[in-house]
Amino acid sequence: MYVRRYIPSGTLLAFPDTVRGVLRPSFATLALVALGIALAGCVSTRIAEVGTLPNGERLITLVVSENRRVVDRECQDVPALGPVLGCQTSRALELPNGHAVRAVKIVRYTDTLPSRMAFEIDAHELCHAIAAVQSIEDPCHGVDHGIVESWALPRLQRVP
Ligand SMILES: [Zn+2]
Repeated sequence: MYVRRYIPSGTLLAFPDTVRGVLRPSFATLALVALGIALAGCVSTRIAEVGTLPNGERLITLVVSENRRVVDRECQDVPALGPVLGCQTSRALELPNGHAVRAVKIVRYTDTLPSRMAFEIDAHELCHAIAAVQSIEDPCHGVDHGIVESWALPRLQRVP
């Protein structure tokens, strides 16, 4: 049996004055902020849960959002100073066969959402990466058999 410490980590937004010196909002900056507030209803989020484990839980959950509030909410338990742009958390699970596994959740902000297909491929490959570093049978082809379901063309594409 192995035990890992719970070590969440996050990606932080650098404070503007640490990047460019003194922050002086220009009219254009204020206009962009106002436009962002006006378009706040247009932001969106993609969520994928991939890799069904024998206990019914998912190995990987991927959340990508254009909405900073979604990222803030999902990352609220991650210790960080300042605005958070992304985080990962994991939790230990015990499978019916007694093996231990860690289910991982990755949350990140984006300025532009990936396409549905690109997002599906990202989540699928992350599932393989998380499975590869654990002593479990890879569950990532359990439901979709490695076939991209969001592919717009009638011909289905296999993801290795
Ligand atoms: Zn695959």
